[in-house]
Amino acid sequence: MALQFFNTLSRSVQEFVPRDPRGQSVGLYCCGPTVHDFAHVGNFRTFVFADLVRRYLEFKGHNVRHVMNITDVEDKIIRRVRETNAPLRDYTAKYEAAFFQDFQALNCLLPHDTPRASEHIADIIALIEKLVARGVAYRAADGSVYFSIEKYQGAGGHYGRLLKLNFEEMRPGERVSSDEYAKEAIADFALWKARVPDDGAVFWPSPWGEGRPGWHIECSAMSMKFLGPSFDLHLGGEDLVFPHHEDEIAQSEGAGAQAAGEPFVKYWLHGAHLLVEGKKMSKSLGNYFTLRDLLAKGFTGREVRYLLLTAHYRESFNFTLEGLQGARAALARIDECLGKLAEIGSGSEKAPSEPEVLHRFTDAMDDDLNVAAAWGVIFDWVRDTNKQLAENRISPARANTLLVVWGQINQVLGLHAKQESAPEDLVRLLLEREITRKAKDFKRSDAIRDELKARGWAIEDTPKGPRLKRL
Ligand SMILES: [Zn+2]
Repeated sequence: MALQFFNTLSRSVQEFVPRDPRGQSVGLYCCGPTVHDFAHVGNFRTFVFADLVRRYLEFKGHNVRHVMNITDVEDKIIRRVRETNAPLRDYTAKYEAAFFQDFQALNCLLPHDTPRASEHIADIIALIEKLVARGVAYRAADGSVYFSIEKYQGAGGHYGRLLKLNFEEMRPGERVSSDEYAKEAIADFALWKARVPDDGAVFWPSPWGEGRPGWHIECSAMSMKFLGPSFDLHLGGEDLVFPHHEDEIAQSEGAGAQAAGEPFVKYWLHGAHLLVEGKKMSKSLGNYFTLRDLLAKGFTGREVRYLLLTAHYRESFNFTLEGLQGARAALARIDECLGKLAEIGSGSEKAPSEPEVLHRFTDAMDDDLNVAAAWGVIFDWVRDTNKQLAENRISPARANTLLVVWGQINQVLGLHAKQESAPEDLVRLLLEREITRKAKDFKRSDAIRDELKARGWAIEDTPKGPRLKRL
């Protein structure tokens, strides 16, 4: 079977054929975080999903260019900047750094480009100028620039490609200056927002006066800058289908940069909502978790990643703390099996390859990333391997081969963070702990252990002596 994805554009499962005539290069854009606060586990479901898509495409031999924007100019951010009195960059830098720490704790591969909106204002203005010149955008009396759905449709554009829309209910012509999701279910939307006193110091000059870009235009400008006017895959959470992605199509195709007959994006993939403890996440219900909250409860990024990967991306999923306990148990089963194989395997000799499990895994994943079937294949393999291990039927050479097979599957799953080496001062502390332990100064050795833990490292005893392991 060839790789297939559910394309929101056609509302059907379609074979994935890259635009590259050689079938090699793939351009992938995923809407990135709005850095106004710590990201929550629902946000990370989308990023782990995008990571899975990228890793699987790479596993299939594609050369993926992955772009993810950082939304650092937006209503919520401006409100917080005003409340905290901090410069925009100082405010967003903290949450951006936290986001990337979390991203790495979940072992998501870093996108090749992570452009910030605030550093692409000139590209955004150039795109708006094109839309104004083509007659599909207009400057309103307040100095803001709006996209006209009516003019776009009149010029042959089709608004409502991802979602069937009821234009009667969209009250065309109404204007709002907020770019918050709930207020944008109307026809014309802002591309450029004229400066108002509440914006404080967050504004840039433009041909239409001082102001700042709307959220939707940020993604059109940055995706096309890095991936060209047409590219293969655009990902995001299903809450972005309308209006964000619908507006992206209108802006990008409205600017007319694509070759004749080419769409802005060939495949649109959307990840479903996440429920937490059976309900929509909310701070008042106590089921609102950032990744940090989960790490503080003693779970690892690897366990969170595993749990997020157990659900099909198009199904809403109930994320629970109990589920995380289950993730820990499931990972322990995999780790135990791999540990035994590693104990048996020695030298570089390998038995003939055993591609059967890889074929079954690939068949499952080709089917619109059917992870339920893929995990079935993996746990069947773990069970069979354990059985053969118990019967002493695995030779060192075969153990090496099985570990290679697992390594290939794990390229897609990304369950094992690369072993990070600890900073030198911590390695020195570890040595000091060994010395103090031998001297029976347990108070000091425990204090060192606690300090290492506070810095995110655990001591692991191995046959070759203690070593530091990332918590
Ligand atoms: Zn976006």
